[in-house]
Amino acid sequence: MLAAYSQERTMRLDYSFSGRTSEAVIALDELRVIEGWAGRRVHLKELPLKGNGQLTLRAAQNGEVLYRMSFSTLFQEWQNTEEATQLRRSFENVFLVPMPDDTAVVTIELFDSKGNIQAVLNHYVNPGDILVRPASSNPAVKDIYIGGPVEKCIDVAIVAEGYTKSEMDVFWKDAREAVKSIFSHEPFKRMKERFNFRAVGLESSQSGVSIPGKGVWKDTPLHSSFDTFYSARYLTTLKLKDLHDALAGVPYEHIIILANTDNYGGGGIYNSYTLTTAHHHQFRPVVVHEFGHSFAGLADEYYYDDQFSDYYFPEVEPWEQNITTMFDFDSKWKDMLGRDGVSVLEGGGYMSKGVWRGCEDCRMKTNTAAGFCPVCQRAIERMIRFYTE
Ligand SMILES: [Zn+2]
Repeated sequence: MLAAYSQERTMRLDYSFSGRTSEAVIALDELRVIEGWAGRRVHLKELPLKGNGQLTLRAAQNGEVLYRMSFSTLFQEWQNTEEATQLRRSFENVFLVPMPDDTAVVTIELFDSKGNIQAVLNHYVNPGDILVRPASSNPAVKDIYIGGPVEKCIDVAIVAEGYTKSEMDVFWKDAREAVKSIFSHEPFKRMKERFNFRAVGLESSQSGVSIPGKGVWKDTPLHSSFDTFYSARYLTTLKLKDLHDALAGVPYEHIIILANTDNYGGGGIYNSYTLTTAHHHQFRPVVVHEFGHSFAGLADEYYYDDQFSDYYFPEVEPWEQNITTMFDFDSKWKDMLGRDGVSVLEGGGYMSKGVWRGCEDCRMKTNTAAGFCPVCQRAIERMIRFYTE
């Protein structure tokens, strides 16, 4: 019997997701092949979370599921903006799957904010396809923490963004700080040997990153910028292909990008990437908060105002494990009530009403919290176990 990863190669699937508020189109962009498979080797046919989208790889011959993953996208966040009511835009998305032994079918599904399917694409992939271009790169890499072999551990690449050649020593130090901060939080602390963190020193021709709100534009390897969707603190990159091109020679399954700036901000997208400012005094809590999004699919527990008031609905239970609409509270932390200060507090997921969280404070709520709340800790631990046992 052959396992789905028997090829020890990765198939990279590049897509364009486009559309507007209530409309999405998925188009295949390109297929790439990368030597090695750094993804998980257990629970291949299962999903840890529903996510805002899903990918399923099935054997073409008998329909057997070979691999599944769930994810969220910047495109779907954009669909909730004012701009999306006015025009159609497209966004890059990249996914990694184990190279199948034989012809397989990939299904990509995107869900709307009520969890209903909004778009589907099915297409064949053939491991012998002559048009699948190899991807490789040879970036400067330093091991920051190695808990064990690639096959057994969760491999995280920490990527430099906006650091010039002469600033690379600063980046290695920033990468070590990021890992130290993550490992100062439970459950990462007690499960640290299940992770590998490698720093990837991409050199930038200019120092810093783009801050359009201040009229600052920088030429950087990942073209990241603040003011995403006109939100000053929202720091993202739209260039997913450039990001994955740069990482092709590194074993990786999760990504943390450090931006060489002291301008406050960040972003974290489930199973896509974390991107955060490295030189603001809140760097240490923020990088862990964003990794909570990108690694564990946790929701924000804060609610400054109700600008995203159509994000969660009373008749839909969110898939994020640390918030609830009480529609299906049994599926959340009901069994933890009364233990370790866990209760049900209204306010979370950007909404002051109609969404509840488990604790007064948490790394997913404020930068001053002592750590993750027990609800988030359990969700993170479950995700770590999903990858490693
Ligand atoms: Zn929490």
